[in-house]
Amino acid sequence: MNEPFPVTAPSAAIADSDQRFPVRRIFCVGKNYADHAREMGGDPDREPPFFFSKPADAIVAGTAAIAMPPRTENLHHEIELVVAIGKGGRDITSDDAPAMVFGYAVGNDLTRRDLQADAKAGGRPWDMAKGFDRSAVLSPIRPVAAVGHPAAARIWLSVNGETRQDGDIADMIWPIADIIAELSTYVELMPGDLIYTGTPAGVGRIVRGDLVEGGIDGIGAIANRFT
Ligand code: MN
Repeated sequence: MNEPFPVTAPSAAIADSDQRFPVRRIFCVGKNYADHAREMGGDPDREPPFFFSKPADAIVAGTAAIAMPPRTENLHHEIELVVAIGKGGRDITSDDAPAMVFGYAVGNDLTRRDLQADAKAGGRPWDMAKGFDRSAVLSPIRPVAAVGHPAAARIWLSVNGETRQDGDIADMIWPIADIIAELSTYVELMPGDLIYTGTPAGVGRIVRGDLVEGGIDGIGAIANRFT
C-alpha cells in the first residue's frame, strides 16, 4: 500500500533503553528562578511564573549538531530541568503530581531573544521566538525508577568550556509538583507531554561554532555543537 505521507511522530530517547518516549506536547515555564526573572528585567515578587509552549516537532537530541536557526542575531541558551509526563489528568493536586511523572531530563530552551524582545514590545505572541525548528534540546529521559524525584541538584551550562549558568533546581519558584498541578488547571495533561521548568540566571548568546554543554547532577547532560 502506498502511503501518501510518511507517518512519523516526534519522540525522545529514554536512558539505558531501546524504547522511545513519544512526545505529545512541549510546555515551558517562564521566569521560574528569581535570579533569571531579575536579569530579564522582571520582579519575581510581583509576577508569578507563567506557561508558553513549543511544537512537539521542535525536539532535538542533546548530542545533535544544530544548525544556527534563521531570522535571529541573538540566539540564547536556557538550561532547564525537563519533566516527562507518563500519566495524564486534570486538576491534579501537588500531592498527586509525582505519580504522573515518567522521568526527568536535561533541556535547553533555545530562544531567539531578539524576536522575543520584539514580541514583548509589540504585545505579540512568542511562538516565533520560542517555537522554531530544533528549539527544544533534550537529553535522554531518565525514568523515576532510576532517579527518583529530584528536589535539589546543581544545574549548569557552559559555552566552549566557560561556565555561563550555574544554579540549583531547589531555587525554582514553582517546584515540580506545583508546576504539574498549576498546568493541569489549564490543560488536561497527557502521557508524552514534556514540561521545561525554567532556567536560572546567566542566559546568553550562542554563535556559530560554539559547543554548548550542560547538565543536572544525577539527571543527565547535553552537548551540542552549533554549525
Ligand atoms: Mn526557558
